[in-house]
Amino acid sequence: MLLRLQELDIGRDDLVRERDAGPTRLEAARAPLTAAQAAERVGRERLQEATRAREKLEKEIEFERSKLEERNRKLRQVKTNEEFQAGQKELGEHRKRIAGIEDSVLTLMETVEGLQHEIAAAIATANRMRGDVEAIEREVAARTATLDQKIASVDQDAIAFRQGIDPATLSHYDIVRTRRGGSAVSEVSGGVCQACRTKIPAQMYNELHAPDAQNICPSCNRIIYVRLAPRVTDEPVGSAEFR
Ligand SMILES: [Zn+2]
Repeated sequence: MLLRLQELDIGRDDLVRERDAGPTRLEAARAPLTAAQAAERVGRERLQEATRAREKLEKEIEFERSKLEERNRKLRQVKTNEEFQAGQKELGEHRKRIAGIEDSVLTLMETVEGLQHEIAAAIATANRMRGDVEAIEREVAARTATLDQKIASVDQDAIAFRQGIDPATLSHYDIVRTRRGGSAVSEVSGGVCQACRTKIPAQMYNELHAPDAQNICPSCNRIIYVRLAPRVTDEPVGSAEFR
């Protein structure tokens, strides 16, 4: 009974492991989609910044042009040649400044164009991935539901098995399983605990040959037993041929 319970519990561990791996699998499947969505978001933010910067520069150009006109008007009223020369020089500087700002606007326009491409590419990538991610989400959800059902069914079987095992043994079994995970019951073969490979004291080994005898491995603390029936076939542990 104990061996069958252990078989159930170890099987249950596998089911739980697979079920618990679902979120990690989902996360891995979603990661590229999330990255594409983040790229789109960042692209839009940078596009907004570039657009704002361009608007600011265009306002500066407007301002410089109005200044230029003002100077032009004043230049028409100057009396001396020196004043005219100085005015011309100022006009030249304004024109140069405007040309410089216009260059910056052009650069920004190129940036905007590049960003628009980046955003479009990110959207296309996200659209392409969305279907795959949704398929994996459905698959993981279905598998999780199946695993939950299987685990519930194993739990039902385990209740039945546990009722056939004495409470002290069960309690020891649970403690070892909690501490070590995996097996809490180990066969002793040739005087050696098969779980931890430690030699069992001779007297304990002899006592284990009594029908239904069990003990605790002095080394790994697992419940140990000796298989008394001759092994004719390679029956799995806990099969009907056991004892
Ligand atoms: Zn042991």
